[in-house]
Amino acid sequence: MSGTIDDVLVVGGGDVGLLTALGIRKQLPTVDVRVVDDFGTEVPQVGKSTYLDIQNILHGQLEIEEPEFIDEVKPIWKATVFFRDWCDTDAFHYPFDVSDTFKQPDTRNSSEHFVYYYDNLYDSEDHQTRCEQIVSQGKSPWYHDQNGDLSKYNKCAYHLNTARFNGYLRKLCRQRGVELVDDEITDVETTGSHVDAVHSASDSYDADLFVDATGFNRILRREQEAAEFRDFEFPLDAAFNVRIDRSLDDVIPATVVETGDFGWFWHIDTYDNRDLGYVFASEYVDDEAALEEFREYVEAVSTADADPNPVGDLEDVDRYEFTSGYYERAWVDNCLAIGNAEGFVEPLQSTALTANASLAMQFANLLSAHGRIADDDVRLAYNRAVERTWESIYDFIAVHYKYSYADTDLWREMATREYSPRLDRIAEEFDRFGYDWQVERANEDGLQELSIFTVPDFYAMMRPLGASSVFYDTNDFRVSNELVRELEQYYRRIRTQVHSQHLTVSELYQDVLNG
Ligand SMILES: Cc1cc2nc3c(=O)[nH]c(=O)nc-3n(C[C@H](O)[C@H](O)[C@H](O)COP(=O)(O)OP(=O)(O)OC[C@H]3O[C@@H](n4cnc5c(N)ncnc54)[C@H](O)[C@@H]3O)c2cc1C
Repeated sequence: MSGTIDDVLVVGGGDVGLLTALGIRKQLPTVDVRVVDDFGTEVPQVGKSTYLDIQNILHGQLEIEEPEFIDEVKPIWKATVFFRDWCDTDAFHYPFDVSDTFKQPDTRNSSEHFVYYYDNLYDSEDHQTRCEQIVSQGKSPWYHDQNGDLSKYNKCAYHLNTARFNGYLRKLCRQRGVELVDDEITDVETTGSHVDAVHSASDSYDADLFVDATGFNRILRREQEAAEFRDFEFPLDAAFNVRIDRSLDDVIPATVVETGDFGWFWHIDTYDNRDLGYVFASEYVDDEAALEEFREYVEAVSTADADPNPVGDLEDVDRYEFTSGYYERAWVDNCLAIGNAEGFVEPLQSTALTANASLAMQFANLLSAHGRIADDDVRLAYNRAVERTWESIYDFIAVHYKYSYADTDLWREMATREYSPRLDRIAEEFDRFGYDWQVERANEDGLQELSIFTVPDFYAMMRPLGASSVFYDTNDFRVSNELVRELEQYYRRIRTQVHSQHLTVSELYQDVLNG
């Protein structure tokens, strides 16, 4: 089926639905875009942590002015994912400036550099990238440069208060000509996989293209025939979530994660509070026992400003359920699913919002490049991009479990299960060759390359989690004194720079921006 798209109806005005509408508006200004949502219902509270690409999507592709965004959304900057205690390993960071750790192979001394990292630096608090120093010193990426001007180190993502962010996106939609319709869709009319119309109690809506952005409700997608779901079968499938009070002085500019007996905890500081969660495997633990573990965790990370008993009973905490996996064809006939409606991989590494925002932009670009014509090849191209995105996320999340071990049924199961052939390939090649940028990732599915996470991203997780390489363990590879001296100076300079030039979040908002 092919046809020219003149109008789009996005069902669901969560963050992803609104970003999709904004992306279409930006790239296809002649296309009419409406978003239907029962806007009166509360915005879901999860979805606060992002990764690096969010900066480019919001401020580059969507041309959202950064000062206005900071003023209205009040983000907190995230420089790393901080593994404070992951199955009893020493604390370590996954920083957004991984490239500063793993030099390009053609850089002078790159091999020595890797060996030194393998042997010494990966668990050293004295050899941190700028992102890692920002977290260790409790700073923001904003600093005063030599001329006294306010500048930003660009390798940081955001923590967002979802209510502020969603409110801002709604305002932006109105300003940019996206129509927001306050209504709840109750019925979807289809012929096979073709969506004919959607209906609310009082109205009917049709369009050339429908976008299902209804989150886990998946109200259009469920009605489409021929939509196959690829289940990743990660056992983590539920989460508790509470928010506690916290002063801006106590902000940690990282998403902090720690393991529990049946999953892992998150700790995300936003402008307004500290957001805490426990993602667990309901097959291995009942809600009461998981809540007890969560309660202990929350007490441990509580601040002087917090309510002394924030977790309370089961009825008092938000509880989420999810399945990890995605619909193999995101765009079927005249309906495209995006966001949680299309897929979700458990929230370790906080991939959902940013990955979907990126896909929304790719969709708008693709349609724009093809003169608004939707045909099977355009759909295929988009669906391949979606597939690569989810598979890349799956591989990267799996690496966190492949090398983890704790003495409970869940963690034993996670350490021994089979993940993807792509991940096995990276692990095998690290063992045989050490750090190598050239790992061939083609597999039987014909996925020539993964998106989002590159091989160095995997290395940044593998060594701190305990992976070892026969190549380094058996060969007498020497690191020169010259390189060691050079690195000592380099890391000292970064530490001093962050210490003397960077502002804390509190200094930035209260002294510089007077917020
Ligand atoms: C436990 C957990 C933790 C997470 N943490 C993160 C994180 O740290 N970072 C991250 O990027 N992502 C995270 N996510 C994913 C996060 O949920 C999404 O990134 C984000 O909320 C955007 O989702 P969405 O817009 O697709 O769906 P939603 O936010 O659920 O929005 C769906 C919208 O559809 C509307 N809707 C539904 N049904 C109808 C209907 N019938 N008619 C009209 N409107 C309808 C709803 O009102 C809602 O506004 C997490 C998810 C979970 C479950």
